Amino acid sequence: MASLIATTHQTSLCQSLDRLSGVGPRILPKLEKLGLKTIEDGLYHLPLRYEDRRQLKTINQLTDNQQQIFAATVLASGEAVTTRTRRRIYEVIVGDSTGKISLKWFRYRQPWLQKRFPVGQQAIFIGEVKRFAAIREIHHPDSELINSTTSPEQLLTGDPLNFGRILPVYALTEGISQKQMRKICYQLVNQYAEKVTNTLPAHLQKKFKLLAIPEALQQIHWPDSHSDLDKLQSGKDRARQSLVFDEFFYLELGLALRRAGVQLEQGIAFSLRHKYTIPLNKMLPFKLTDAQRRVLGEIKKDMMAPQPMHRLLQGDVGSGKTLVALMAALIAIENGAQVAVVAPTEILAEQHFRTFDPWLKQLGLKTGLLQGSMGAKAKRASLEAIKNGDVDLIVGTHAILQEGVEFKYLGLGIVDEQHRFGVRQRSLLKHKGVNPDILVMTATPIPRTLSMTLYGDLSVSVIDQLPPGRKPVTTKIVRSNQHHQLYELIKQELQAGRQGYIVYPLVEESEKSDLQAATVAAETFANDIFPEFKIGLLHGRLKSEEKEAVMGQFRSGDIQLLVSTTVIEVGVDVPNATLMVIEHADRFGLSQLHQLRGRVGRGAEKSYCVLIPSDHYTDDALKRLKVMVATEDGFRIAEADLEIRGPGDFLGTRQAGLPDLRVANLLKDISILETARQEAFKYVDETNLLRSSEAESVRRELLRRWGGRLELAAIG
Ligand code: ADP
Ligand code: MG
Repeated sequence: MASLIATTHQTSLCQSLDRLSGVGPRILPKLEKLGLKTIEDGLYHLPLRYEDRRQLKTINQLTDNQQQIFAATVLASGEAVTTRTRRRIYEVIVGDSTGKISLKWFRYRQPWLQKRFPVGQQAIFIGEVKRFAAIREIHHPDSELINSTTSPEQLLTGDPLNFGRILPVYALTEGISQKQMRKICYQLVNQYAEKVTNTLPAHLQKKFKLLAIPEALQQIHWPDSHSDLDKLQSGKDRARQSLVFDEFFYLELGLALRRAGVQLEQGIAFSLRHKYTIPLNKMLPFKLTDAQRRVLGEIKKDMMAPQPMHRLLQGDVGSGKTLVALMAALIAIENGAQVAVVAPTEILAEQHFRTFDPWLKQLGLKTGLLQGSMGAKAKRASLEAIKNGDVDLIVGTHAILQEGVEFKYLGLGIVDEQHRFGVRQRSLLKHKGVNPDILVMTATPIPRTLSMTLYGDLSVSVIDQLPPGRKPVTTKIVRSNQHHQLYELIKQELQAGRQGYIVYPLVEESEKSDLQAATVAAETFANDIFPEFKIGLLHGRLKSEEKEAVMGQFRSGDIQLLVSTTVIEVGVDVPNATLMVIEHADRFGLSQLHQLRGRVGRGAEKSYCVLIPSDHYTDDALKRLKVMVATEDGFRIAEADLEIRGPGDFLGTRQAGLPDLRVANLLKDISILETARQEAFKYVDETNLLRSSEAESVRRELLRRWGGRLELAAIG
């Protein structure tokens, strides 16, 4: 019976919006443009802000720079020309017993305005009051005419959808007016809000004084007249906070179950044999940093436990993640298992191979390489070696994840630069063995609480310290017409025996033009500007052997200046490189710029990063570049990135396999997120993974919201 009721409730929410009066075939596609198809979508189309239309003010009471509502009479009406810009405008002067104010339209249909606002016409006006010196005016006000039989007060109480209360202001699309949208949302809330099932456990609702969902929806769309307007405008009202908590609770519940599901699996309990780890430690030319040692301790503990490890290793560019990965790999290998290292690009895979192979060789172990561009024969040999267990560690691109790649005994999978991979890839890797340990590494410095959410089913380790002796990188913005400055710097560095990169971004419209730009630049540098230096060119169209040859020459110092498209973005490690020049730097995201800059400052010498904006760039772009000049701290950069870009784009919740957030904002609502997370993990624990009968409706709601995305969780 209970489930029957829940089902009918859900179906009514799944109905199309055309059930509402005033929503027909003309409006429907427009609503769809806003992402609104079902009744439920509509209920969660929340106001962007609110307008205070509770009381009429007199003209002398109007506050500047705020939405105001007042009644007044038209004193003058007509077209005029502005004195300053010589633009034609329509101006209506209105007044009441306390004063006058000017209303202006800059785009308008003159006959309509003329007819609507003859001298003597009374109306209610709504708009933001602007003050220019001593003159106050309102541009493009809303208005409601008052005819001789109704008083302003009657109008105010007689039309509750548009007057006499705090009104919602919604996001619109062309062809739908604010009034229409209000009417739609008003019906929605009145007829359907109570049909939304409130499934949040009662004890939590009580503990945090939350509104039940139907009431919260009602209040967020149509707040009571005595509501605190400031709280409403800033999203701190109880209605919104209740919806946010509900949303985060179910998000975290899914993550808690995924995590619990992993912990229920039988994994490999490695033991520490020190057969290779201690010898490696002795061979290393440096000591591990404290942070590396701490993180390695956390990884060891996971690897020794009988459950599979699912750990995220976060560390800024150059913090030494690769070495930690190598140590973890050796632990697995000591136990007779194989290790797979998956990198996002061939260049990076090759570089990892180059890092791992010499150490493993010295330890008497074998490293293999597997990538898509390999010849058939080499590939077959590589596949054979993986299957037979002839290689201990295999490095490669996503080619490793493809069907037909079989391991003899995969014990540990390492994914580098996780932000390029989704959960699906992680899960493919997992299925190459029997619940192998998984270590994902990322240099994208996400604020910790956010990474806990995004990778909520992973444990997180952070390397928060760089190896000693790193020199700060000096970052400058140089305009494209100040190239001589740049040439000086290049000359200075190359003459001192150091090396540099010049990077061109991928231009979206045509892949050709970045290649062209890089090619032309390389030729100009080689022939005209720096004939005395050896210049190389690296781009994505080169065959892998060619790329590898160029990288090899750069590594050995034969190439001094490497002109490149973004293929070098991640992970390349050439300590003698001290100069990173980024052309069209405004086209890159902040985290990308940070990654690129991380390619220098790796050796003992002072390093430079030069950002050259395109000739035409946006304000946001300049803001980003200034952040780069101001700080080298990856976490601060990530936060700035979040602020500029917004969390959705930055985090890619979809790629991470999480449900979309409709109400909550990962940045703004972070403290609610933390609370909801704690409560969700506790709840999963207390209800025996939602199996107890009291959790029945919570469990059903969870499945509904997460759909198929709970793949790894303990419940099906
Ligand atoms: P990440 O992958 O985190 O960006 P890497 O692992 O590539 O960083 O390390 C960057 C550089 O620092 C490498 O040249 C590496 O050999 C060196 N390195 C790593 N750990 C240490 C350490 N403890 N002390 C000194 N140098 C280190
Ligand atoms: Mg790396």
